[in-house]
Formats: sequence, C-alpha cells, structure tokens
Amino acid sequence: MNQRPKIVVIGSLNMDLVVKAVRAPKRGETVLGEEIHFIPGGKGANQAIGLARLGAETTMIGAVGSDAFGVELMKALQADGVNTSTVKVLNSEATGVASILLAEGDNSIVVVPGANAQCLPEDLDRYEGIISEADLVLLQLEIPLVTVEYAIKLARKHGTPVMLNPAPAQSLSQDLLSQVDYLTPNRSELALLAKMAEESAIDQGIQRLLELGVSCCVTTLGAEGVAFMELGTSTLANISGYMVPVVDTTGAGDAFNAGLAFALAQKKSIREAAEFAVKVSALAVTKFGAQGGMPSLAEVEAYFR
Ligand code: ATP
Repeated sequence: MNQRPKIVVIGSLNMDLVVKAVRAPKRGETVLGEEIHFIPGGKGANQAIGLARLGAETTMIGAVGSDAFGVELMKALQADGVNTSTVKVLNSEATGVASILLAEGDNSIVVVPGANAQCLPEDLDRYEGIISEADLVLLQLEIPLVTVEYAIKLARKHGTPVMLNPAPAQSLSQDLLSQVDYLTPNRSELALLAKMAEESAIDQGIQRLLELGVSCCVTTLGAEGVAFMELGTSTLANISGYMVPVVDTTGAGDAFNAGLAFALAQKKSIREAAEFAVKVSALAVTKFGAQGGMPSLAEVEAYFR
C-alpha cells in the first residue's frame, strides 16, 4: 500500500474577507462593521491543505495575483508542505476574493474569481508529468469548466483516477460525467446534476448519475453522513455521521473530499475511504475555519481510537 500517496489538486485559491456587522446596509447606505477577518480559502486550496495534513504528497495547480492576498494564500499552502511551484502568479489579475457579510444571522457573499478564471487548459500541459505520476487528481468547479474538462482528459490519458467535487453546483454534460471515477456532490448538487426536483430522493439521484456514466457517486448528507453507490452494484450504502461538538461547518465538504481522496489514493476500498472521510470531516467541524479545521492523520487516529 502506498503510505504517502501523490495527489494533484487542480482548483481555486481565494481570500475570504469576512465582515461582521449588526445589520446589512440598505441600498446606497454605509454602516459600521464590527469585525473583519482575512481567511485563506478556495475549495482547491482547502482540499490541498486537508490532503497535506493527512500526509499526502500534494501538488496544487491554480492561479493567484501578484498581490498581498496571493502571497498569503501561497504561504498558507507552503506552511503545510503543499507544492506550490505549479501555482501561476499573475500581474494582470487580482487574487480571487470571496467577500462575505455576516449580519442578522444571515450571510451575503460576492465572489470575484480574479486569477482563478485564468487557470487555463494550456497551463496543465506543463504539468502532464506530475499528473501522469499521481495516484489521483482532485478537481472542483471554481476554475473554468474547460480547464476541468482538459484536466480529466489528461488524467485519463495516463490512467490517473479522477475525483470531481462538483461544487459550486452547476450542470455538467454526460460526456464529462462519464469520465469521472469518483463524483462527490452534496444533496443540492446531486439534485441539480441528476435533474431532480426533490433533494431527498438520494438513491434515485445516485442511480441516475451512475446511468450517466459516473463510476462511483458519493453523496455527502451533512451531519447525517454519506451515501454511496458504485457502478455495477445495486444497493445504496450508507455511513452515519459522527455526533461531535460542532464549532464551524464551513469547509466540511472540503475536509470530506480530502479524506476520501487520501484514502482512495492509498488504494483503500470505497467503503473504507468513505468511513475515513466521514471521520476527517467530523473532526473538521469541531474547529473554526475551513483550512484551520483540517485535521492531521494523527489527530484523526487519536480522536477515533
Ligand atoms: P460545506 O459546503 O459546508 O463545506 P457540503 O455541503 O459540501 O459542506 P456536507 O454534506 O454538509 O458537505 O458535509 C460533508 C461531510 O462533513 C458530511 O458527509 C459529514 O461526514 C461531515 N459533516 C458535516 N456536518 C457535520 C456535522 N454537523 N456533524 C458531523 N459531521 C458533519
């Protein structure tokens, strides 16, 4: 078994600007905020950090601007040992930003993809060698879809398994879905991809995606855990979530994807990998922040001993 799997994450890096205010401003109004936090994020970077903490040899392919946020995001990845020599630094674009206003128990978010929109198919050609040697390629949907499609094509050319976390939700073609080995939608992403009005019909949604050619569909169900099914099998498998003291569920999905990718890249079965990922993500929600909450392998083993 490969103890230190090699995983390539191709995805987004964002700085999350979190502002807390008593209330949201009305149109044209200015209000005083109470707090601001600058939190490194982006699904790609979060999952890369999750993988590195678990012990994977992790390479991040993406793009940032040559600004202070870009420097901070790169530092955060490097601090956990992620290879960032494959992250493009652009003078022409700002680093991606998610501006998040928390007010009156609600949040409103504006995402500016910035440099993430410049993570392009041609950038991947330079890293074909790394992709070919990887145990798994992990993708999300915060970079251009053409890049995701090209990454899948390159990975398949070399027989490298592909895991796609289809977030944020968007419709995907059957051609793309049929090339994905592991698809990891949450409930609402599953409903959109399977074109179902009803979010609760998990088994139907998963069946539908397998019919569209996905090899294995693993659907996360928040605190309830996960449901999955592989092509060629007829029964839906479930793994319950753990009851934990919840501090912050931001990035629970990212932690889950990191855990699943790590275990699958170690050639564990889908059941073993899903069991491990449920543990990783349960531990992640006991801490604040998406990247801050990613546990190490030692922490997972100690907590669930
Ligand atoms: P997010 O967008 O907040 O990152 P998501 O919608 O992508 O999350 P979820 O289905 O909410 O993903 O959560 C992913 C996994 O995290 C779940 O399958 C579960 O294992 C774990 N998890 C989430 N919330 C909780 C919780 N409250 N308690 C325990 N485990 C949780």
